[in-house]
Amino acid sequence: MNTVVFFFTGGTISMKVDPVLGGAVPALSGEEILAHDPELSRLANLEVVNFGRLAGPQVTPQHMWDLSEQIRAALERSEVSGVVVTHGTDTLEETAFFLDLRHHSPKPVVVIGAMRNASELSYDGPANVRAAVRVAIDEGACGQGVLVLLNETIHAAAHATKMDTQAIDTFQSPVFGPLGIVDKDRVYFARMLKYRQTIVTSALELRVDLFQMYAGADGRFIDSARVQGARGIVIEGTGRGNVPPMTLPAIQRAIDAGLPVLLATRCAQGRVLDAYAYEGSGKDLRNRGVIFAGSLTGAKARILLMLALGITSEVKELKNLIEAGQYF
Ligand code: ASP
Repeated sequence: MNTVVFFFTGGTISMKVDPVLGGAVPALSGEEILAHDPELSRLANLEVVNFGRLAGPQVTPQHMWDLSEQIRAALERSEVSGVVVTHGTDTLEETAFFLDLRHHSPKPVVVIGAMRNASELSYDGPANVRAAVRVAIDEGACGQGVLVLLNETIHAAAHATKMDTQAIDTFQSPVFGPLGIVDKDRVYFARMLKYRQTIVTSALELRVDLFQMYAGADGRFIDSARVQGARGIVIEGTGRGNVPPMTLPAIQRAIDAGLPVLLATRCAQGRVLDAYAYEGSGKDLRNRGVIFAGSLTGAKARILLMLALGITSEVKELKNLIEAGQYF
């Protein structure tokens, strides 16, 4: 029988309502989560790693790094078919993308969570666990990198994003669509990913900051990040990837200091492009040396820059690495 290794990191899937605190908090171990579904052991040998009991916002890039190292070791074992990670949905897409960038094995890694905690009638943890085991042992999932799975819908880690604060189908791939579904009779992949970006690095740069643009913004936060030692800056521009002109001097100071500046959009979907040529537009930013992050959310673009900075801090090399053959 296949072996599937579970890494439990916390999140709502591990939570129950604490009557004293009056809200959901991490409470269940991995073993207790799996115990909701006694049928699971018929599908695969299940191994449990209790990595942590962290809510999504408590997860750091260092946790992601440590998790990716442990997953790599698990996947190297020949009897292991795949890995399942349970995670708080708030930052699930950042961890999934991080793991995907460092995933070099054909075996699947499936990242799941839950939108209802174990004290609620509609707790969706066990159904997502069952679906994840089925995907982790499915041949169709091989070679597709890290997958995000909730509500029986399979997404590529690079494309999935949390769209709704409370809906069960919160994860969607707004630009490119999901890869497949988990139906009652089979796991159905409607399409294969044509490109995946991976990064081979033994270092992670933690000092990368992210700023969202808004009407009337100026550059104080960007200047402050640079002065306080940021090694990279990610901007969520407006629309196609534009910024208020008052931020330009601070962006230029960051570029002149040799910092990579990466541009994403604050829109819920769509790619950034230098389609406009006014002051503060994408073309203006491109001409100054800003790097474009395709359709990545700002949070994912930051993850990419943190790992890419582990390879090089040369802005030209980073631009090639991030923009050439961009698949997102
Ligand atoms: N706030 C929770 C978390 O990210 C949400 C969840 O897991 O669904 O831990």
